[in-house]
Amino acid sequence: MANPMNMETRFFCCPVYTCGQQHPLTFESVTEHVRKVHPGIMKNLGYPKTVGFCTKCTSYTRFKHFHCHECHDGFHFRTEAELTAHLKEAHAKWYFEYDCKYGSECHGKSGACGFNHLTSGLGYITNDDPIPGGVCRYDRPWDGKRCHNLHCRFDHFRGRVKFLIDTRAAAAAPEAPEAEYEDDFEEDDRRAAEEDDRREADEEYERECYEQYCDVLRGGDII
Ligand SMILES: [Zn+2]
Ligand SMILES: [Zn+2]
Ligand SMILES: [Zn+2]
Ligand SMILES: [Zn+2]
Ligand SMILES: [Zn+2]
Repeated sequence: MANPMNMETRFFCCPVYTCGQQHPLTFESVTEHVRKVHPGIMKNLGYPKTVGFCTKCTSYTRFKHFHCHECHDGFHFRTEAELTAHLKEAHAKWYFEYDCKYGSECHGKSGACGFNHLTSGLGYITNDDPIPGGVCRYDRPWDGKRCHNLHCRFDHFRGRVKFLIDTRAAAAAPEAPEAEYEDDFEEDDRRAAEEDDRREADEEYERECYEQYCDVLRGGDII
């Protein structure tokens, strides 16, 4: 009764042209059909105890096929581990963070907003593709390295917005605005007022950013 090849209980249609019989797609019934009706196939397969049927190849098999869904030539493996390794090596996809819906109008494009503003509609790159201009060169998820600069204005790979939101949520109190990239102000109180404005504006961008992120999540668009 066990179904070691994990075949779903559906029907298969025998691909032998002169046969075309339909039987339940179970290990037992496939084996029985081949044994009774197609001794030649049984011989070709080397007289296995059990015969399987691959619906992707529409052929009888001795071992379960772990097909690569990216290769379209029936490429398959004998084990799931081999398939996983193949997918990682040959088909790794590095998705970019979503584009900011405010684009170049975004008030947070100089770093507060984690969405991408410099590139658009890139989707993803594979290991063979060059990294497009405008993408942060410290963001290298394939090396296990991500950009941790909270004010980086370049574009990043998927996970940037979540990183900013998580980091900001983890910070007990908002950090004092960093002074190094501020213009020089002559009057202290003017500077303080600017910083207040900036902090308020930053909080607003973060809220917008968060709402945008929630929209994306709700859209079910997350990979
Ligand atoms: Zn048949
Ligand atoms: Zn197959
Ligand atoms: Zn493949
Ligand atoms: Zn933005
Ligand atoms: Zn960066």
